Amino acid sequence: MDFFPIFLNIKNQPCLVVGGGTVAVRKAALLLQAGAKLRIVAPQLDKGFELPHGSEYLAERFQPSQLDGMALVIAATDDAAVNEQVSRGAKLRNIPVNVVDNPELCSFIMPAILDRSPLVVAFSTGGASPVLARLMRGKLEALIPQAYGRLADFAARFRDLIKQRIDTPAQRRIFWEDMLDGAVAEKVFAGDEKAAEAMLLAQLEQPQAQARGEVYLVGAGPGDPDLLTFRALRLMQKADVVLYDNLVSKPILEMTRRDAQRIFVGKRRDNHTLPQEEINELLVRLALEGKRVLRLKGGDPFIFGRGGEEIEELAGHHIHFQVVPGITAASGVATYAGIPLTHRDHAQSCVFVTGHLKQGGLDLDWEKLAVPNQTIVVYMGLQGLETLCGKLITHGLSPDTPIAIVQHGTRTTQRVVCGTLGTLPQNPEVAELQAPTLIIVGGVVTLRKKLAWFKPGT
Ligand code: SAH
Repeated sequence: MDFFPIFLNIKNQPCLVVGGGTVAVRKAALLLQAGAKLRIVAPQLDKGFELPHGSEYLAERFQPSQLDGMALVIAATDDAAVNEQVSRGAKLRNIPVNVVDNPELCSFIMPAILDRSPLVVAFSTGGASPVLARLMRGKLEALIPQAYGRLADFAARFRDLIKQRIDTPAQRRIFWEDMLDGAVAEKVFAGDEKAAEAMLLAQLEQPQAQARGEVYLVGAGPGDPDLLTFRALRLMQKADVVLYDNLVSKPILEMTRRDAQRIFVGKRRDNHTLPQEEINELLVRLALEGKRVLRLKGGDPFIFGRGGEEIEELAGHHIHFQVVPGITAASGVATYAGIPLTHRDHAQSCVFVTGHLKQGGLDLDWEKLAVPNQTIVVYMGLQGLETLCGKLITHGLSPDTPIAIVQHGTRTTQRVVCGTLGTLPQNPEVAELQAPTLIIVGGVVTLRKKLAWFKPGT
């Protein structure tokens, strides 16, 4: 960290801007927003220059004596010698100084600012790339709605009260997280601060309600952390305990709260580390202990994920839960493999099936699967590949029908093997593939030749 970030209180403090151009005006306006007592010094003002309301203008050349008594100085002239003089004079007097676009002459630099006062976010690249800092700010602009300023004001009103009433910092944090991230916050956003206040006070009166646990059943998508939803990420940062299995990629797991307890309830084919019933029971037990439990699942929890079973159990115990959809493997993996699941020339419908073998066989409705102009996506299908291809052919699909197997879709270890129903099972590359893999059958597979855009490791 080359610069130490702080937020400075300059209310009613004398601040100086040297310069009479548009940049000077911009800086002056910012200082005024923060309540500075502002003086602008320049022999003359540029044409069209509008003196910011509330500032004092001195029509003089810069002289070091003008620095005396200042709390902060910004030089924004186009005269290098003057800028340097301002910097030297300020440093001699220990006054924080910023010279626009000249990091060497600065004792502080100006961040890109996201203003949701009283919530303010400052971005800096330490002078390396102000444009990058502004781009980052742009990204957060979209993420942090204007209403967050109101929420921060609301929280400030109750800060002392909550401090008196809840004395352990950890419990206070949980209380505030619940308030600022749940129904109370929603009320503030909706402009109903009265209702928000009533809810907050009610929560404070019922300590047992504070300890009520809940479960977040969250879809983590197929592996690339960029494919998480905002809501998934928010809940991942909030949970006290994380239950995950081996479909959840490592980079995603690392995005859960650092001090959260992580429990591996891994599932491998035919080798459930914890039987499903025990996972269901564990969720219930942890929630009843008052924990916020994140059940993180690969893809989408409601697609071949047994998410339904897990929350049925919770509902039976009246435990609060929410479900966050994730990008399911069919969608994420096909996209990263350059295979559109539908296409006007190839497929008007698409079906998702499980290829999990039962007693060595595949229990699927072959008549419905083996139809023209349809894409078939097979989850958990690698072991049953040969049976799958054989059955589709005997039920009427041509042995030339294109098929692809995608290993580790959307991840840096993604690998795609293509062929036809007649040839793929014999392809020696298939034997090298590692779970998870997804199978896609149908004419759309041929589009990959043109559309493959994600090429990890090349
Ligand atoms: N709920 C998950 C699916 C769970 S079943 C979802 O919506 O995606 C597990 C199967 O999903 C795996 O056997 C594999 O077929 C598929 N799968 C999940 N992630 C995958 C990935 N990154 N690449 C390829 N297949 C994946």
